[in-house]
Amino acid sequence: MVDCGLTFNSPLNPAHDKDEYVKRHELVAADPSFIEDRRDQLAGIIITHAHEDHVGGIPYLWERFKQPIYTTKFTAEVLRRKLSEVEFGHLVDIVEIEPLDEFTIGPFSVKWLPITHSLPEPCGLMISTPAAKVFHTGDWKLDSNPVVGEGVNRDHFMHLASLNVDAMVCDSTNALKHGNSVSESACESGLYHYINSAPKRVVVTCFASNIARLITIARVAQKTGRRMAVFGRSLVNMIGIARRTGYWPEDCIMIDRRHVGYLPEEEVLVVATGSQGEPRAALGQLAKDTHRDLSLSAKDTIIFSTITIPGNEKPIEQLVNAFIARQIQVVQAHDAVLPIHASGHPNEQELKSMYQWVKPLISVPVHGEPEHLQRHGEIARVTGVKSSLVGQNGDLFQLSSPVMIKRGVVNAKRIAVKR
Ligand SMILES: [Zn+2]
Ligand SMILES: [Zn+2]
Repeated sequence: MVDCGLTFNSPLNPAHDKDEYVKRHELVAADPSFIEDRRDQLAGIIITHAHEDHVGGIPYLWERFKQPIYTTKFTAEVLRRKLSEVEFGHLVDIVEIEPLDEFTIGPFSVKWLPITHSLPEPCGLMISTPAAKVFHTGDWKLDSNPVVGEGVNRDHFMHLASLNVDAMVCDSTNALKHGNSVSESACESGLYHYINSAPKRVVVTCFASNIARLITIARVAQKTGRRMAVFGRSLVNMIGIARRTGYWPEDCIMIDRRHVGYLPEEEVLVVATGSQGEPRAALGQLAKDTHRDLSLSAKDTIIFSTITIPGNEKPIEQLVNAFIARQIQVVQAHDAVLPIHASGHPNEQELKSMYQWVKPLISVPVHGEPEHLQRHGEIARVTGVKSSLVGQNGDLFQLSSPVMIKRGVVNAKRIAVKR
């Protein structure tokens, strides 16, 4: 089994929900019954990277599988932290893999191929069995300078062509976007521009797991004579994990959040959680002026170094309006003239490159809405892939002849999970 994620529910009818926040923040996962029913055939669970939509389901669902987990060091550390909060956590066997390791799990031989995304140690998986060979990309982009870790090495993927890969299971998130994605390293110029020209305090919000972005912000703080502090539990946790796994540079020093209020305004740089409009996160508290360590005022600056995840437009707009009403300046990635956010997913040109390198017989677009999967399938076909199997949740993909999709044979409803 590759990955075991979790997501937030979207309100079914936002206009009429009395408690939209509760509904939106209900945690949901894919119903794992199909795999649970075949647990005797399950050899193990591989986690490709530490994002919630790939690892977040484990603390809720692992007891239904009870198989070892194979993953790299950073993801293992994120997972151990999550498992420390559940009763069965100590029973989970986590096997740490080094990128480029090859490992046998039951009848599967798996090679971990380092790739680039938007957090440390993302890996694609070359899965070989006597029946077929599948390259599972995980989430990825082609970044020659990802700030943390090595730039992508195309030789690893060009080599796969010689293995005659049957199917490539691949990320579709940005298949509708032309050209190439922006490199993570390009965010430094934009963040420097906005932070350097800010007259008073600066608060940047970004995804907690984006260690590269956090390091870039810390570097910009050094260059602009500001001191960096962190507001919000998930940021503190992630930076702690980055420290323990050797990804946090020792010279990136942070100050205690309780000292921020005593600094000259032009020396303050806070990184805060809550970029998606979560009212209880640090940014939500700053918007309502209820944060215990800092009260913002006119001419302070908020920088959204993130994207708006579809469905969160309304709460983010409310947050932005609350700041603007208090004359606090807001910079959002979509209207910034210089890049302050880089997506971690491949645009059309990157997908084409990957198909040209790997040359699979079959493309299996995953990780996206139907329009993304459809477009991804077309991109694969124009790049010379013989067949694209564009499916839906609940479909079974038959990868050896006859190649086909068996529609809707698996119950793939979403289930609510909670502790
Ligand atoms: Zn991801
Ligand atoms: Zn993902």
